[in-house]
Amino acid sequence: RTVYVNGDYLPEDQATVSVFDRGFLMADGVYEVVSVLDGKLLDFAGHLARLQRSLEALAIANPLSDEDYLQAHRELVRLNAITDGLVYLQVTRGNPGDRDFAYPPEDTRPTVVMFTQSKPGLADQPAAKTGWKIASVEDLRWGRRDIKTVQLLYPSMAKMEAKARGCDDAWLVEDGKVTEGSSNNAYIVKDGVIVTRELSHDILHGITRAAILRLAREAQMKIEERGFTIAEAQAADEAFVTSASAFVMPVVQIDGAALGDGTPGPVARRLREIYLEESRRTAI
Ligand code: PMP
Repeated sequence: RTVYVNGDYLPEDQATVSVFDRGFLMADGVYEVVSVLDGKLLDFAGHLARLQRSLEALAIANPLSDEDYLQAHRELVRLNAITDGLVYLQVTRGNPGDRDFAYPPEDTRPTVVMFTQSKPGLADQPAAKTGWKIASVEDLRWGRRDIKTVQLLYPSMAKMEAKARGCDDAWLVEDGKVTEGSSNNAYIVKDGVIVTRELSHDILHGITRAAILRLAREAQMKIEERGFTIAEAQAADEAFVTSASAFVMPVVQIDGAALGDGTPGPVARRLREIYLEESRRTAI
């Protein structure tokens, strides 16, 4: 595989980053994941806009132009012959040359890394037909989940907890309400109304979430942006999650309670179809 590091395209075993990089020592960096279908990038502008917001929130100067990012994404897709898969992009505060809590001087060059992951048949994930089982786990993450940082230890722990309980993913719960999934936004559907938590510092502002809510509104579906409890979710007609790589993934079970008839619901299936159709049509 060929990866990108600070302007160079290198075989993955020759690509290096300093041990003093603040991304490595302090998780001081942000990332984005863009899906690729038929060799094209999905919702690229949305991901770049969020990258800019994440960087600004951490006072990291964006080292590349949007055009540079686009060109690098396309070059990696080409070099690695990606048909379906994703491009991972990470920008960290870089290498100050030593370890120190204070940010390094502003002329310290951020480290930019990009790589691809090939996922043949990404849009036809078998799981989308059967749906995910969810386990609820306490949300112990920090208070700025709207910044897409590389501090992913707690979401990894939550995912492992869910797997240990025989589930596919975790829904994180804070003050009695679901915030989001370990790496996706969470929704329930009751009496035709789609419910998902409102935007704030408590959740990541999903690029897929924005697209799904727009498409749902265009299809005259009703939406309520508010938190919900696990009990409310278990009593819902259906549920689903969204992310750039899972698209719309139906949820069929929450903490052992089956939703509806225990199979993916019609709203989730329809939104997945609409989302994939529009994404393919607008991919660049
Ligand atoms: N919430 C969290 C915590 C995530 O990690 C992700 C995936 N990046 C999402 C939501 C979904 O965001 P997006 O639709 O932009 O992939």
